[in-house]
Amino acid sequence: MSSKPGTKPPATYECDVALVGGGILSATFGMMLHHLQPDWTIHGYERLPKVAKESSNPWNNAGTGHSGLCELNYTPLRDGVIDTSKAVKTNEDFQVSRQLWSYFVENGVLGHPDTFINKSAHMSLVHGRDDIEFLRKRQETLRTLPTFSSMEFSEDRDQIAEWAPLLVEGRDLNDEIAVTWDPEGTDVNFGSLTRQFFNYLSYHGVKVETSREVTDMTQNPDGSWTLDIHDTGRRGERGPDKRIRAKFVFVGAGGWALKLMQRAGLPEVDGYGLFPVSGKWLYTTDPTIVPRHTVKVYAKPPVGAPPMSNPHMDARLINGARSVLFGPYAGMNPKFLKNGSVLDLPMSIRPHNIKPMLDVAVDNLDLVKMLAGMVLETKPMQENDLRDFYPLADIADWRILHAGQRAQIIKPDKTDRGKLEFGTEIITSRDGSVAGVLGASPGASTAVPIMLELLKTCFPSKADEWRPKLQEVIPTLGKTLTDDPDLAFETLTRTAKVLDLEPPTHANEKA
Ligand SMILES: Cc1cc2nc3c(=O)[nH]c(=O)nc-3n(C[C@H](O)[C@H](O)[C@H](O)COP(=O)(O)OP(=O)(O)OC[C@H]3O[C@@H](n4cnc5c(N)ncnc54)[C@H](O)[C@@H]3O)c2cc1C
Repeated sequence: MSSKPGTKPPATYECDVALVGGGILSATFGMMLHHLQPDWTIHGYERLPKVAKESSNPWNNAGTGHSGLCELNYTPLRDGVIDTSKAVKTNEDFQVSRQLWSYFVENGVLGHPDTFINKSAHMSLVHGRDDIEFLRKRQETLRTLPTFSSMEFSEDRDQIAEWAPLLVEGRDLNDEIAVTWDPEGTDVNFGSLTRQFFNYLSYHGVKVETSREVTDMTQNPDGSWTLDIHDTGRRGERGPDKRIRAKFVFVGAGGWALKLMQRAGLPEVDGYGLFPVSGKWLYTTDPTIVPRHTVKVYAKPPVGAPPMSNPHMDARLINGARSVLFGPYAGMNPKFLKNGSVLDLPMSIRPHNIKPMLDVAVDNLDLVKMLAGMVLETKPMQENDLRDFYPLADIADWRILHAGQRAQIIKPDKTDRGKLEFGTEIITSRDGSVAGVLGASPGASTAVPIMLELLKTCFPSKADEWRPKLQEVIPTLGKTLTDDPDLAFETLTRTAKVLDLEPPTHANEKA
């Protein structure tokens, strides 16, 4: 952290909390904190000219309200038994997010729910007898749980055609398929949520500045942090445009969070690296396709492929316009953000993370080959993939869109060997003055429980004071819906009503 010799040092401003990054995580954290502690000063900085332009932008993610309804990799078969733990946890987390969004709709913070969340049934599609039996078992197991009570299974083509006609039309009768369908599924515009939260915060005294990059952060003797802020609209080599002194820093910088935490010298990120994966969608607004596909359909990833390459065909409703996305086609690109730098990967290498990164490279050669293969996929190959879902698809009706960049976590496991992780992880400094979030999915859908965890870890002395307010926002705080079917039914019904979503099926109505 230095100013150019002979130049006046930049002005330093004080705040209680600094938010680095203008994505859904900073927006959610900022909203929660502002609500709990309105007297704290909060400043937010986003390097791009607008908030929600990276992964949280609706075109950069699939907008799936991840709730375990359709993601087949969340329910592996272990010794003949479906392990539902990940699906259940994801659903519990999503219900927490739904409660917070409902509260802010009821209190006029968020606009009409259709500006950010809409009904879109979640379906899983499988081919072949073995996978059909797996899917049947999955539905039978999940449907006994209160948050999965609406899920239906079918092999019947007429029934499937009612739910998703494009899946059936033109399909070879020898191609045995089955699906599950859950009308409680959602399509979420995380970009709209982010913008609405930041607009509210700006209007209520939070300083939110765009085109401002946090380039360095240094801890002061009193435990606070000084952040160097650069105006990205100004060019030329120079020192920071201003400095911020904050008691607490949230690094919601997406793929660049690691970079900033490394610069801050946090020992908690020693050994951590990132594995960037780029993505592309096929996209259509064709009026003969879009009105006939109003669901999100997920299939199994190819054998040996990572979970984020689960192919899916998604109905989207973005800013009032309907479209369909198919993909993702993963690929290789060294950037950690879509608007990042090709130097992101090489510049992230440190003596402490070389070994874990090399371990991952050696252990995941198949993955690297698969990603390289996807980069080289030709249009006829893409059409072939699409026809697994939509047999009559014509690639000429679809365009390519570049998706957001995923930066998957690499870290040493218990044996000190580098491992690739596919989830989201909160990193907190030992003194609780900095926290950041690394990783990708299911980050956006579970932003609220992630932030609850962060509040608990970083502000333990505030727990008693904040509990009643948090309970008002999230009435089921501390409870598990899966253990309480009546509470699950009541909560899902209430949030479905406020958010204009499909209500759950009551246990008594089950066949
Ligand atoms: C292809 C793809 C599909 C996905 N699909 C889904 C899905 O269907 N459902 C779901 O729930 N999740 C999905 N995700 C994950 C989800 O998009 C992310 O978890 C979420 O958007 C992350 O939000 P964020 O706020 O952490 O990061 P971002 O939205 O990336 O925001 C980080 C912000 O920080 C800014 N920034 C970075 N460094 C600095 C700095 N030094 N100073 C100032 N600003 C900085 C960046 O410009 C950016 O705006 C998907 C992700 C991808 C890539």
